[in-house]
Amino acid sequence: MSIRTLDDLLAEGVSGRRVLVRADLNVPLDKQTGDITDDGRIRAVLPTLSALVESGAKVVVCSHLGRPKGSPAPQFSLRPVAGRLGELLGAEVRFAEDTVGDSARSTVEGLADGQVALLENLRFNAGETSKDDAERGAFADQLAAFGDVYVDDAFGAVHRKHASVYDVAARLPHFAGRLLLREVEVLSTLTGDPERPYVVVLGGSKVSDKLAVIEALLPKVDRLLIGGGMCFTFLKAQGHEVGSSLLEEDMVETCRNLLERSEDKILLPVDVVAADAFAPDSPHDVVPADGIPSKRVGLDIGPETVAGFAAALKTSATGDPGNARTIFWNGPMGVFEMAAFANGTRGVAEAIAGSEAFSVVGGGDSAAAVRVLGLDEKSFSHISTGGGASLEYLEGKTLPGIAALEN
Ligand code: ADP
Ligand code: MG
Repeated sequence: MSIRTLDDLLAEGVSGRRVLVRADLNVPLDKQTGDITDDGRIRAVLPTLSALVESGAKVVVCSHLGRPKGSPAPQFSLRPVAGRLGELLGAEVRFAEDTVGDSARSTVEGLADGQVALLENLRFNAGETSKDDAERGAFADQLAAFGDVYVDDAFGAVHRKHASVYDVAARLPHFAGRLLLREVEVLSTLTGDPERPYVVVLGGSKVSDKLAVIEALLPKVDRLLIGGGMCFTFLKAQGHEVGSSLLEEDMVETCRNLLERSEDKILLPVDVVAADAFAPDSPHDVVPADGIPSKRVGLDIGPETVAGFAAALKTSATGDPGNARTIFWNGPMGVFEMAAFANGTRGVAEAIAGSEAFSVVGGGDSAAAVRVLGLDEKSFSHISTGGGASLEYLEGKTLPGIAALEN
């Protein structure tokens, strides 16, 4: 990989130069209050930003937030993020009211050495995500005008062929930030030659979202533990009734085929928490995975399953074969957003946290679960900031943002 890094840039010297940084500050916001509910992604980019500030660069940060449709939408403003970023950085972050307009221009022009500006949401501009190369290019020209060099630290966006990720890199000398490098370094060990046993835990809502990653990982792993909404399609493929649990009928055949090919590697739930309805206060109890009553909905894996998964994940002091040396976890084991159905996710997350294996968490909701459930982030070797990006990397796809840095 022939990517120049932030350290290469710092060695060149950045004092007084304008550094355009693409960050991924796409944090979850509380729908009612608009408060930032998880600032993990802001904290993740601090090492890159601090290094630039300390080296006297004029730092121009850009990011997207949510999915506005190519024009300004106040609920997706990055203004609250500017505030939080400033607190965490311990320095003022000047906020531009637009992305490439008058406010952005004067904010960037007014930066002194070592100062930081944050531009308004990239996706307030149709050019950012346009499929039309010329439209994207025109927006990239405007963005690139704010930097003498470009640093990409937005790992969560490298799978997007967007102006700020792909086209800007072609217009400016480009470098990978610390976070992006660390993500690639960690994920490449998972696709390369991980220490064995290598155990992957998958959950989340849909098999169809994760099929490509299951296919890519299955030949490499020793064990694949499956929970979350996707387990019901596998249970159905084994011939069990799943009540009104999440089910992808059109994936049943695919799951049957996966099980036939690697039944010995795949571990499915033996019990599930079944509720009367998809609601936080719904009556619920633990039922065998092969006996979910009709009309009931499985919203979490059961305690026996958690114990079985935990046994497959722990690293014993004696190094018993069968226990994990490398773990990748993607996708919550249940509807962890509702306290009554968070035990499976908590149990599995605690087992991973307690393991001595090299452990990687990928997926936006999984990373959020670690923090929301109050687990210590430091007990995991790495928590990826990229949901889709980490999965696509593991699938072996070429990621436009990384390819652009390699050129
Ligand atoms: P990630 O973002 O970590 O990749 P996903 O987006 O695939 O994870 O899935 C996360 C969602 O899956 C969560 O919102 C969670 O509530 C949901 N989920 C987990 N288990 C179930 C289940 N049994 N039924 C319905 N939804 C579920
Ligand atoms: Mg998700």
